[in-house]
Amino acid sequence: MTRDREENITEMSSQAIQQEMQLPNYYPLNHNSRSALRQINVSGKSVEIGGILNDAASPLEQSVYDYINGKITYEHFKLLNGKITLQEFEDFKKQLYNNDPVIERCRQLSKTVHDAKLKQHYFSRAYAKFLGEIEGRRENGLNLDNWEEYTGRDASELPQQPSDLLKDEIDRAMETMKDDAKKSTDDFESKVFVCIHPTEPLPFKLDGEEDDDLEIEGGKINLNCPISGQPMVDPLINVKCKHVYDKSHVKDYLRGLRECPTCGISMQYSDLRPDPLTKKRIIFNNRDLELEEIRKKTIDNNEVDKL
Ligand SMILES: [Zn+2]
Repeated sequence: MTRDREENITEMSSQAIQQEMQLPNYYPLNHNSRSALRQINVSGKSVEIGGILNDAASPLEQSVYDYINGKITYEHFKLLNGKITLQEFEDFKKQLYNNDPVIERCRQLSKTVHDAKLKQHYFSRAYAKFLGEIEGRRENGLNLDNWEEYTGRDASELPQQPSDLLKDEIDRAMETMKDDAKKSTDDFESKVFVCIHPTEPLPFKLDGEEDDDLEIEGGKINLNCPISGQPMVDPLINVKCKHVYDKSHVKDYLRGLRECPTCGISMQYSDLRPDPLTKKRIIFNNRDLELEEIRKKTIDNNEVDKL
């Protein structure tokens, strides 16, 4: 728009007000305003903010693990010294999961961080959709030729104002965000749980999961590979049946049979994904196995001393 025209329109607008003439019900965007909107680098900033939030989320997670590991090791020390019984040790772990103020604060903090992560992600998506629609409006800015077109028509016949459009896109995006927010809360919660109880089934159902169909023996989750019977190191989960196998064994296995060794459904390597939660179970179960080893040795030594 040339300066003359701009002045002309300003002039006409003020005349319109003075003469109680109708102002445009919609101000079409010109090329420059569209280009200005494009230059607001929302998605770039969003990636940057996402990175910062990730930087906050992983140390938080690690701090929770360190805290739980420390607590369990200390309580186990009391068990070794006969200060508490095995039952009291088990009760302590239940308390730690259900009623620990530090873990509770970490849950809140994790939720805040993950919600912020989702919000920036969804905001960026909403902005991209908004921009897509704005770009699609191949309109010229307001000028003397189209003045009538925008003043004469009712608002309902005209495109939505960009500010309203953006607001609507954001509202829609925030609505769909709720499911993802639940997912990230569940994700943190399941990590806290398996850190305390590595071989117990989760006490809640993860979103989209069927009933817990993992290998459960005597109420415990089996962390041995169903192919080799050996403890798993690098677990892969079958997305179809949720059974888990060790990476090193399943590759060889699939050269022969192409069915799940646990339930028999047909399977191929592309059905398998890394299983981070089982991986965590393995790590924390190793902690428990080591502690148990120490306890057995202590009992044995005590027996020897008595002889
Ligand atoms: Zn299976």
